[in-house]
Amino acid sequence: MSERVIPLIDQRIASLAAPSHVQPIAATGLLGDTLGRPLRDLRISVTDRCNFRCSYCMPKEVFDKDYQYLPHQSLLSFEEITRTARLFVAHGVQKIRLTGGEPLLRKNIEVLIEQLAQLRTVDGQPLDITLTTNGSLLRRKAQALKDAGLQRVTVSLDGLDDATFRTMNDVDFPVADVLDGIAAARETGLRNIKVNMVVKRGTNEQEILPMARHFQGSGVTLRFIEYMDVGATNGWRMHEVMPSEQVVRHIHAQMPLVQLEPSAPGETAERWGYAGANGLHDPSLGEIGVISSVTQAFCGDCNRARLSTEGKLYLCLFASQGYDLRALIRGGADDQALSSAIAHIWQGRSDRYSELRSAMDPDQSAPAGARRVEMSYIGG
Ligand code: SAM
Ligand code: SF4
Ligand code: SF4
Repeated sequence: MSERVIPLIDQRIASLAAPSHVQPIAATGLLGDTLGRPLRDLRISVTDRCNFRCSYCMPKEVFDKDYQYLPHQSLLSFEEITRTARLFVAHGVQKIRLTGGEPLLRKNIEVLIEQLAQLRTVDGQPLDITLTTNGSLLRRKAQALKDAGLQRVTVSLDGLDDATFRTMNDVDFPVADVLDGIAAARETGLRNIKVNMVVKRGTNEQEILPMARHFQGSGVTLRFIEYMDVGATNGWRMHEVMPSEQVVRHIHAQMPLVQLEPSAPGETAERWGYAGANGLHDPSLGEIGVISSVTQAFCGDCNRARLSTEGKLYLCLFASQGYDLRALIRGGADDQALSSAIAHIWQGRSDRYSELRSAMDPDQSAPAGARRVEMSYIGG
């Protein structure tokens, strides 16, 4: 075992009971938490399995052949997910992101997308449905996903150099196949394709410029994500984080950038557009995004809830426990009871981990004693 990998303590077992007898809370679409933050974005993990072993997410030493994934009956069924999502939508959710693990490993995922695509926001609008994938199965699945109603997709890709990429995914997966997956997504007409690159200093920062050059003007938006101290197994250290500000400066030195307005409130990415010869943003060259989850806390308008593979509701990416909605769902709770429980939990939310971390010792990623849930379990 590599000395920096920390053995997994199974946070899936720990959970908080979802309240079963709360005063009915009407679904008005205007739900707010203790800091007045609305509920707009629901991220649903559809599997805890993955065919990659990215060292920052599912290090091989922990997620080995003996690792116990959740049994199939533990997973929320598509019907259970859709029912729960409908209640979240009535409380104000406008965007749903499917994630994992690797969501395209969930059998017939397009059937779930088809069901979710029928839902309407409180204003009667279709939901913004997207999916984050490592791209390995995208060539095979892109058309079915599009046909089912998926509007856009985010593909994770940490570099263009094949050797670097194979090392990062740690299963020797070739970069050409992910690029081909992105091409397949474009061919089907999926719009607004994004590519997420986690930057880990000492591992792939040399890929920043090649990636920027490759995607400039391609219609695909490249986003750089700071390596986060999520989970408890990746042996995170602050010195491996490359602050977004440095990423922007590095690109700007070669390919001038101008800052753009945020696209939506609560948007995690800061936007930078490529400048044309006149120094103004040239839309034909496109833009990049930077997600500074470590160096710039953005909890103030965090409107994201996460539903784990087995139906636990997490109020923060860094939470150590989730609320067991599945117990209510399978215990026969009706829509009113389940909806009120969701509202009650959100109304009690006060999480703002990134802001609190800013005040901590830089290498001390979690308050003493706190063990966090893995990214592969609740999704990004
Ligand atoms: N398997 C899919 C994928 O890789 O796109 C979806 C799940 S993955 C957990 C979602 C996102 O989280 C990916 O973009 C991945 O790069 C990012 N991620 C995982 N661990 C991370 C970490 N420690 N820091 C920053 N981003 C991370
Ligand atoms: Fe799998 Fe995505 Fe995690 Fe990589 S980041 S191990 S592809 S779930
Ligand atoms: Fe939201 Fe938690 Fe991230 Fe803050 S740390 S932005 S509350 S998920």
